[in-house]
Amino acid sequence: MEFKNETIRDFSLEKERSAMHSALDSLPKSFPFEIPISIGTKEKISPNSFFHKNPWSPDLVVTKVSLAKPNDLEEVVKVSKKSWFEWKQVSQEERSNLLIRVADNLVSKKDFIISVCIWETGKQVTEAEVEFAEAVDFCRYYAMIAKEKLSPQKTILLGEDNFYSYHPKGIVGCISPWNFPMAIFTGMCAGPLVSGNIVVAKPAEETSATAYEITKCFWEAGIPREIFHFLPGLGSEIGEAIVTHPEVSVINFTGSRDVGLSILRKASIVSPNQSIIKKVICELGGKNAMIVDADADLDVAIQAILSSAFGFQGQKCSALSRLYVHSECYLKLKDRLIAAMDGLLIGSPLDFSNRIGPVINEESYLRLQKIQKENANFLVGKTCPVPDLGFYISPSLYEPPNNSDMWNSEMFGPILSMRKISSFSEGIQLTNQSDYALTCGVISRNPKHVLEAKSNIDAGNLYINRGITGAVVNRQPFGGGKLSGTGAKAGGPDYLYLFVEGKTYTENTMRQGFSRETLT
Ligand code: NAP
Ligand code: MG
Repeated sequence: MEFKNETIRDFSLEKERSAMHSALDSLPKSFPFEIPISIGTKEKISPNSFFHKNPWSPDLVVTKVSLAKPNDLEEVVKVSKKSWFEWKQVSQEERSNLLIRVADNLVSKKDFIISVCIWETGKQVTEAEVEFAEAVDFCRYYAMIAKEKLSPQKTILLGEDNFYSYHPKGIVGCISPWNFPMAIFTGMCAGPLVSGNIVVAKPAEETSATAYEITKCFWEAGIPREIFHFLPGLGSEIGEAIVTHPEVSVINFTGSRDVGLSILRKASIVSPNQSIIKKVICELGGKNAMIVDADADLDVAIQAILSSAFGFQGQKCSALSRLYVHSECYLKLKDRLIAAMDGLLIGSPLDFSNRIGPVINEESYLRLQKIQKENANFLVGKTCPVPDLGFYISPSLYEPPNNSDMWNSEMFGPILSMRKISSFSEGIQLTNQSDYALTCGVISRNPKHVLEAKSNIDAGNLYINRGITGAVVNRQPFGGGKLSGTGAKAGGPDYLYLFVEGKTYTENTMRQGFSRETLT
């Protein structure tokens, strides 16, 4: 089986644009989408609900989301226990085939799912297209590697048979963020499912409709509803219940550092009726740097900086927020960057020429406005104008003092800080002065410096002479170290091992009186 990444469409072509426009335009008549709770084959609407507003037109309610409660999880556990034995018996070949079918179902609903995501998040169509392709890639890639990586190994010696095999761990709680509701949600569920586990998915409340449409693609492909449950709701309620439930074996979490660290603490407590040690996978935030070297190609640098710092309004764990520029090209780069930022069009993603859209919700909007206000004295460049209506934040560039929190805290918005360095080594030293270690970029034409960067920079994903976002499945397994995560590499060859445990059988075949014939 050969793996090929999903094709990315070119929206400079009229035919592609018009297909996407009709899909986008067809949605609002059905708003608000009602998102149910799904436990096994039963779906229900709860009177407790959450309303998510469209980020560029906040008068429009896009979804009405039923909020799952801890007793819903109890039911999930009951149904799962009954269904797991049968699911475990399904061959790896068949489970992989089901996941390939999920990928095909996703592709058949491509424009619709991308449109739902855009209305929920305010993501630009080109960003959404790339993200969608990643979701499809996760399914196809995990389907392929499951067969290769999870097959049993035998070591037969004279008088001794050894057999090593992988077994699913049980119920996996998949708690996902809103910023990549197609790719991350799909990948976090596909991995545990293809390796034979039960999945309880808890999407971020803001992107429950995108997650629900994707979940339907899994069910329609033949993944039984009894082994893939959908519990939308609040992190503080159903999220916490999943984390602390004695029969949830694995917490597969992607989100913020604070929530991730609190999950690690809570999941480490073994309750009296618990007979498992929970495994916690936490993929968290970043405070990602880029070093622009003295001899850097500034055309490459500007492109890389704009897309990495401001793509999807900087709301990516991989986004660039610390820029270290060599003194020899500092002023030149700064001037060019400010001019380039000036050319970014801000507005609704329905107009495909806009490069910057709104941020996800009012809470983020107010938080980012506050940061901008507090740092107004250090502002050196800003994209204007922004539309009056909607949660728009201007991309902005700062030169904060060295002791500013702008160098330490994840901004999760279109806010970039820059600082002069006098040597490439100083850039590396500053880059590593962070609790996070997710992505990093180096723009340099000096082979010695590139080598130095590869050996000395703390980052899960280091990119050289290009942007630092948009990891591609199989090509760039993604995930960070230090306080950016527990070390999982999504879209990489080791990912599925997180959801299985190995068992070894050793049999002495030299026993006295033993006859293989008696077995038949
Ligand atoms: P978040 O606030 O941490 O939420 C992530 C998920 O956790 C949501 O589903 C949330 O539910 C849930 N949650 C909140 N509190 C919880 C609790 N006490 N127990 C269990 N679950 C809980 O993060 P976000 O705002 O959605 O996403 C942005 C963050 O994710 C950023 O820090 C970003 O860097 C990080 N991220 C990391 C990666 C990576 O691969 N390393 C990728 C993408 C994003 P609600 O629906 O209630 O919010
Ligand atoms: Mg949230």
